[in-house]
Amino acid sequence: MPVVSQRARQLGTENAFVVLAEVNQLIRSGRDVVSFCIGQPDFPTPTNIQDAAVSAVRGGKHGYTPSAGINELREAVARDIQRTRGITVDPADVVVAAGAKPFIGYTVLSVTDYGAGDEVIYPNPGFPIYESQIRANGAVPVPIHLREDRGFNFDPQELADKITPRTKLLILNSPQNPTGAIIPRDQMAAIAEILRANEQVWVFADEIYGRLVYEGEFVSIATFPGMLERTIIADGCSKTWAMTGWRIGFAANRKLAPFFTTWITNTESCASQISQWAAVEALDGPQDDAKRMRDIFLQRRDLIVRLLNEVPGVTCQSPGGAFYAWPNVTEACRMIGAKDSEELRARLLHEAGVAVLADIHFGPRVPGEGQHIRFSYAASNEAIEKGISRMAEFIRANTRRSAA
Ligand code: PMP
Repeated sequence: MPVVSQRARQLGTENAFVVLAEVNQLIRSGRDVVSFCIGQPDFPTPTNIQDAAVSAVRGGKHGYTPSAGINELREAVARDIQRTRGITVDPADVVVAAGAKPFIGYTVLSVTDYGAGDEVIYPNPGFPIYESQIRANGAVPVPIHLREDRGFNFDPQELADKITPRTKLLILNSPQNPTGAIIPRDQMAAIAEILRANEQVWVFADEIYGRLVYEGEFVSIATFPGMLERTIIADGCSKTWAMTGWRIGFAANRKLAPFFTTWITNTESCASQISQWAAVEALDGPQDDAKRMRDIFLQRRDLIVRLLNEVPGVTCQSPGGAFYAWPNVTEACRMIGAKDSEELRARLLHEAGVAVLADIHFGPRVPGEGQHIRFSYAASNEAIEKGISRMAEFIRANTRRSAA
């Protein structure tokens, strides 16, 4: 019998999709579940963007494109990077793919060699695909821990300590999934300083949430002296313009752009031309809808953080960006006798009808940092109010006498 490779069998996944399947099953069986699981905007794609896609189809713009994407989109991305980050990049250095996600794998593939001991440092907790792609492509994953008392950032000294001559890549994500944290300017400067002393290290700057910022400022590592050449700026349309299913992301880096292009030729050939024209409209067209969605996320953030802090045994920092809240539930677990955040998550789902993800879905729990769960507040105000009130009620009703 032919066998499946070790690599395929060990491939990681996004547990969000696994939990989502469980949630959908419960909903299908008639259960009333308020879901905070999924990391995608709950708005329709703005109409002007939809119209641009329809015009592309009707206008016969639906064939293959060059693997790097249509020039109009690469130019629009370069203008956008100038506008949002104050950095000049040549459109020739921009590559378009089916989402920002594929660039994680393409980057690991382009800067490390399989089984050679090349190390990649990445945030923990973090987007699970980082670790999965590092492992699948035969590099060594080196997690760097985010600390609650640092606003869910890492200590730059810890970064300095983790870099070795074998470190080939550092992955940064700000604003961050799952904590919503933003890396502040002084810390970004400290990271750049450390990298200047370690010339062999590339930086994958996952800036997909860069426009969903509510407090503080979005700072790209690429703006610091010496960093642009070695930074892969990764961004896309999914979050800002509610375009997750359209599958458009982009990356900019002079040296790696031709290699990304060749990976794309070897895999997807090109991103959907229809979606590429829609993305040109997203970047260049009116921004009122994007701004409105961002403002709604901000109101929801304030609502969910306030309500979570009223839940017994829960404390929640106010995240600076993205659409995630990452409350500390260590005390709530203790009160109801749950051994950890995963048991709390499962009980919230099955006993209270509230669907969230647990910290372990974003990497191994950081020692000494307690228990956390993730809420995506891409959900209506009514859903937020109902969901958090169910959670509070559940914890009150299940608090053990001795723990009260
Ligand atoms: N990076 C992070 C941190 C994300 O949270 C996501 C989406 N959940 C992505 C990348 C991928 O986005 P997309 O492929 O839709 O552009």
